[in-house]
Amino acid sequence: MRNVVIIGSGPAGLTAALYAGRANLAPLLIRGLEAGGQLTLTTLVENFPGFPKGVQGPELIELMQKQAAEFGAEFLEGNVTRVDLSRRPFVLEVSGQRLETRTLVIASGASAKMLGLESERKLLGHGVSTCATCDGYFFRNKEVAVVGGGDTAAEEALFLTRYATQVNLIHRRDQLRASKIMQDRLLRNEKIKPVWNSVVADILDPAKGEVSAVKLKNTKTGEETLKGCDGVFIGIGHSPNTSLFRGQLEMNDVGYILTREGAKTSVPGVFAAGDVQDPVYRQAITAAGSGCMAAIDAERFLEAEH
Ligand code: NDP
Repeated sequence: MRNVVIIGSGPAGLTAALYAGRANLAPLLIRGLEAGGQLTLTTLVENFPGFPKGVQGPELIELMQKQAAEFGAEFLEGNVTRVDLSRRPFVLEVSGQRLETRTLVIASGASAKMLGLESERKLLGHGVSTCATCDGYFFRNKEVAVVGGGDTAAEEALFLTRYATQVNLIHRRDQLRASKIMQDRLLRNEKIKPVWNSVVADILDPAKGEVSAVKLKNTKTGEETLKGCDGVFIGIGHSPNTSLFRGQLEMNDVGYILTREGAKTSVPGVFAAGDVQDPVYRQAITAAGSGCMAAIDAERFLEAEH
């Protein structure tokens, strides 16, 4: 029987593990399929306080993991395949193994939706990004493309105008899904060039290990064209990794876990932290902060039970 099990090994889960470890709760952290989370998909992180020269995303995760281990956190490789939150202790199945825990911290994150191209996968972190706040700075005085027509794409495009000479907004229709205010801002910005009715059919050039152009296909005419650019930002939305908890926890209409009074969920003893409950900020530092909150909430919950 565990006091605290944490699902997810990004900044939210690792910070929860650090705090729960220091509270002598001997937390067990299940690393999950995308171990380390979205930070492991990025290169230099320049907006995490404490690293004036920046830190590589994977290195930051490794440091957090070491720090949590220092205080007694244990790590389990594997993926949670089933949870039962209907009775206490909560029951989890991890790669065939059954676990019981008094409290659960869900920090399973969100995954950026991708286009599904082979070139996109190969160039991720090498010119292809899903986070303008993280990687925009590398495109100072360069030309970039942003894919998508919702608020995420709009935000990414607007942010990138701080650095890029031109931001090509590639959308598969001729009408944006983004909120009216974002649309106005986008269309007023001289650096943003909408490319309507177009999808990215390919990204060049994986052989060189860098982005040199996108191959666009017009959705109306089928015509293919090349558009030179140095970076591609995929802004077609995120999906919270919450399918395991559907029907067991309150979520919003797109599947983000609803939290209240800190990190509490609709089930007493279950806490959520990081991107799995945050469609708005989605930063490493906010995830880490909410992981801290979840661990403190779990500790107080256990104390109150005694
Ligand atoms: P959305 O689902 O709203 O938009 C996704 C966009 O990507 C759509 O324009 C969609 O096209 C396009 N798209 C989806 N899949 C593909 C694909 N395979 N190829 C090409 N294009 C594709 O997601 P968002 O992340 O933008 O927003 C999610 C929610 O979060 C919304 O409620 C939004 O308002 C909110 N949000 C709010 C922000 C803010 O207020 N500052 C910032 C970010 C998000 P199509 O339109 O044709 O479906």
